[in-house]
Amino acid sequence: MSELFVRTLREDPADAEVPSHRWLVRAGYIRRAAPGIYTWLPLGYRVLRNVERIVREEMNAIGAQEVHFPALLPKEPYEATGRWTEYGELLFRLHDRKGAEYLLGPTHEEMFTLLVKDLYSSYKDLPLSLYQIQTKYRDEARPRAGLLRGREFVMKDSYSFDIDDEGLAKSYAAHRDAYIKIFDRLGFEYVIVHAMSGAMGGSASEEFLALAENGEDTFVRSPAGYAANVEAVRTTPPEPLSYEDAPAAHVEDTPDTPTIETLVNLANARFPRTDQPWQASDTLKNVVLMITEVDGSRHPLVIGVPGDRELDLKRLAAQLEPAVPEPFNDADFIAHPELAKGYIGPARFAGSGAQATAALGEESITKIRYLVDPQIVSGTRWVTGANEPGRHVFDLVCGRDFTPDGIIEAAEIREGDPAPDGTGPLTLARGIEMGHIFQLGRKYAEVLGLKVLDQNGKLVTVTMGSYGVGISRAVAAVAEGTCDEKGLCWPRELAPFDVHILAAGKDQAVITAAVDLAVQLDEAGVSVLLDERAVSPGVKFADSEILGMPTIVVVGRGLSNGVVEVRDRKSGEQTEVPVEEALGEVLAAVHGQTTLV
Ligand code: ATP
Ligand code: MG
Repeated sequence: MSELFVRTLREDPADAEVPSHRWLVRAGYIRRAAPGIYTWLPLGYRVLRNVERIVREEMNAIGAQEVHFPALLPKEPYEATGRWTEYGELLFRLHDRKGAEYLLGPTHEEMFTLLVKDLYSSYKDLPLSLYQIQTKYRDEARPRAGLLRGREFVMKDSYSFDIDDEGLAKSYAAHRDAYIKIFDRLGFEYVIVHAMSGAMGGSASEEFLALAENGEDTFVRSPAGYAANVEAVRTTPPEPLSYEDAPAAHVEDTPDTPTIETLVNLANARFPRTDQPWQASDTLKNVVLMITEVDGSRHPLVIGVPGDRELDLKRLAAQLEPAVPEPFNDADFIAHPELAKGYIGPARFAGSGAQATAALGEESITKIRYLVDPQIVSGTRWVTGANEPGRHVFDLVCGRDFTPDGIIEAAEIREGDPAPDGTGPLTLARGIEMGHIFQLGRKYAEVLGLKVLDQNGKLVTVTMGSYGVGISRAVAAVAEGTCDEKGLCWPRELAPFDVHILAAGKDQAVITAAVDLAVQLDEAGVSVLLDERAVSPGVKFADSEILGMPTIVVVGRGLSNGVVEVRDRKSGEQTEVPVEEALGEVLAAVHGQTTLV
């Protein structure tokens, strides 16, 4: 410790939002270089390399081969697949002295596809899985929580290449099994959930989420095993209803009812239903958004959801990717006077009793695209805005009085909603995305021309899978899941050192005994951090708790009675052990024997 390049800090860093960030900085594992960009100090770097080792071992075990691409990449392959523009502001772009354009790789599908195309030409060469552990760059809009969402971060990415769908399914299953082993070894609680395949296209797709209350991803689970990221939940639409007997739509004066609550109250007071009171779920809420397309063009989009549900902006963004939705602001409403804020609806009426004309939709007078929640099927009846301030229309029937341009899964998913596969009510929880596996299919191979000759001498397009693990994110996620109010608390496989020995006293006998034990452990293959600094025992105790090695040995006052103390950082359990038994005792702890007598 007297030589180790580390300084523990008493104060929390000002920008720390989550415990892992706070402790990794305070324990001297990482230092911030710029927003979302971190320097690894010796202790942190040892943890990072331990995560890498686990990932490498499990990837090698399924026969994947390690390669290493540059992080600095030419733009052309990314232009060919469209991602040069689709990535938008997420991409770090630069140019060389000759003016040629480059990017810092956010993920490497293009490069792997081209490499295999470069060298392979026959079905006999397949299957093949390649991986790398590489620094990735993404100019995230909101870098946060230290290593959890960085702008420079370390990822393990692998890619599988197969001749047919059956091969792809096998490669995917092999990766899935390897990921289960990796995340079991990393030692956190996680769930495997159905996921969106996002900007990359493709079909089967699952995420490994570490359970975390402050995680950015929300997922749902049913008692019988359905699990999905909320982004990927596909709700079950009801059957269309007949509207033959439905009354005609009628517009009513509903002054001062810009919200669902005010509307429901007024409807119950002035236009009571005979069967039951009006509820929020009888209303159709139309939310306007401003959409920015990949080419930079902007246009409004209106989304209709049952009035008892909020629009979930994250679900919406996932459906619209790579286009980006934003809430409509006051300036947008001024620029679009055809949208009566608080009273927007899909139909317009010239006067009472008059026929409805379409007010929303690509074919309507406004030409504003109109998408609705899957619950809004043909024959459903709604109370919704009449496109005039202070007026709503009742008994507006979907399929008769208005026709949406399409459906979109963007309404919030709530606790208790039914699982789409009929396996019971859903519960919601939050997590951190640690890994993502998906079947890319032929999208990249097709665009970049990766074909091989099959058994009949015919050229066929290769099918691919793509699989990622957030290596630097894992360091933070494990810290997050294991730290306590005193500091870090590493699981043994990730700890920078197995044992932290404190020479807690100034006597030469204490120093000698501590050094002896350190040497013996070192010779037995155990990595030891020895605190022989000339500081008070209190400082050493506090530092050992912040730094978080799994086993702490205190050589101090007890030495005059021939004992040292062995502490388990996680459980806090302390045992006094005769000096001569200390080696055996610590070895037992390190090698997982539970008998700390
Ligand atoms: P997210 O939804 O969190 O932005 P993503 O879906 O864009 O992640 P992938 O492209 O699937 O991420 O990347 C594979 C893995 O890389 C993720 O599962 C995650 O563990 C990690 N990762 C992605 N972005 C970051 C980041 N900004 N900082 C740290 N790790 C990241
Ligand atoms: Mg992902």
